[in-house]
Amino acid sequence: MNSYSAESNTNTADFMFLGGHPCLDFVNTEMMVQEQRTDLLTNPERLLEWLETTSLVTAETANWVRQGWLDDGSGALVLEQARTLRQMLRTMFDQIIDGTTVDPAIITAINAYLAVQALQLNLVQHAHDFDAEWVLMPREPQHILASIAAITVDLLTAGEQRRIKRCENPSCIRYFYDTTRNHSRRWCSMEQCGNRMKVAAYYRRKRPQQKGSD
Ligand SMILES: [Zn+2]
Repeated sequence: MNSYSAESNTNTADFMFLGGHPCLDFVNTEMMVQEQRTDLLTNPERLLEWLETTSLVTAETANWVRQGWLDDGSGALVLEQARTLRQMLRTMFDQIIDGTTVDPAIITAINAYLAVQALQLNLVQHAHDFDAEWVLMPREPQHILASIAAITVDLLTAGEQRRIKRCENPSCIRYFYDTTRNHSRRWCSMEQCGNRMKVAAYYRRKRPQQKGSD
């Protein structure tokens, strides 16, 4: 699985890294804030910030893309493509979680991002094992979305599909990768959703019309 170095919750502005995999965290850049669906990728620069924070693009590449967007104004188009890709990934994860076949058009779209050949495969040596690492080498600024396609491939091929889950808080739209041994993780975050749902369940049990023990 793709290792990535985003530090939990301490990075840029209000980006959250609770999903356990960068692909799920990318989908989670759309989240609920005070019951409103909120897009954290508010402009092209935010998309670059997110990619830099997750180390999917280097600072050098990000600066090169930034300059390209300044020159030809294509940042807004790339942001639109990123949002479309994110929506497709959301649909795909829902289909995986619900046990239905993933729409082939989504696979085709992911492959279209890979077809630009903006990624170079590197072998990385660790103390006891090795990793495959895809390094983004874009020839055009819009090629940065190939990095999202690459982490999607990583999640789907190196991970286990049944560990991809939706947060059980019905008013939350986040996804996460469950790494617990017995597949028991239920919430995107214990602090943000788990505790709230447990308190709600506690008070439901305590309602006076309900007799019996809890
Ligand atoms: Zn949640």
